[in-house]
Amino acid sequence: MIILKSPREIALMRAGGRILAEVMERLRAFVKPGISTAEIDREVETFIEEKGAKPAFKGYRGFPATVCTSINEEVVHGIPASTRRLKEGDIIGLDLGCIVDGYYADCAFTLALGEVPPRVQQLLDVTRESLERGVDQCRPGRRLGDISHAVQEHVERHGFSVVRAFVGHGIGRELHEDPQIPNFGEAGRGPLLKPGMVLAIEPMVTMGGWEVRILPDRWTAVTEDGSLAAHFEHTVAITENGPDILTR
Ligand code: MG
Repeated sequence: MIILKSPREIALMRAGGRILAEVMERLRAFVKPGISTAEIDREVETFIEEKGAKPAFKGYRGFPATVCTSINEEVVHGIPASTRRLKEGDIIGLDLGCIVDGYYADCAFTLALGEVPPRVQQLLDVTRESLERGVDQCRPGRRLGDISHAVQEHVERHGFSVVRAFVGHGIGRELHEDPQIPNFGEAGRGPLLKPGMVLAIEPMVTMGGWEVRILPDRWTAVTEDGSLAAHFEHTVAITENGPDILTR
């Protein structure tokens, strides 16, 4: 069941989303070669708590950290570690969420450390653009499949692949609510989009095939073929006038 949110509820999610947007801005400057993913995690946790919010992922189904840090061929759910240091030419996906007064906000972005080859930069650009195209479908009268299709079409047109095993989701009092939002599918299919729906749209895109596997840590998802992956996400409210991005 898709739970519609009131303006009051959306305001709380926007408060969380603003905190996440600030964190993302900070991380752009903070994340540098030489830094460990545990340092990133500590920075984000401190910031979220200073703002009076709670980290959303820490303890979620046993996840041990505030941020998911996914480097290079890691797609999502990488676990921060003090032994994991970033180097020039890496790309890192940072997925973070917080809770304000019982309501969740969720976002992700991928950064390149220093110079990366043009095709790698294109992977990041196309993934971010595919998110923007998905968000643009968040209008009353469109269907869920229109989001999925818009993402997939943009990604595949550039020769990249959409991960199947993980999907976007409704969000509110729970981190993961209905509906599931695949990043692939047919336009014109699925539930009608309505004002008050709040969706976390999150394309995960690879340079090679779409297959993934889970590492023995039971969290980190990596591409089966070892190709690089990127991930961008926004929490978006659907309004009468179209999409309202809460995480910026
Ligand atoms: Mg999410």
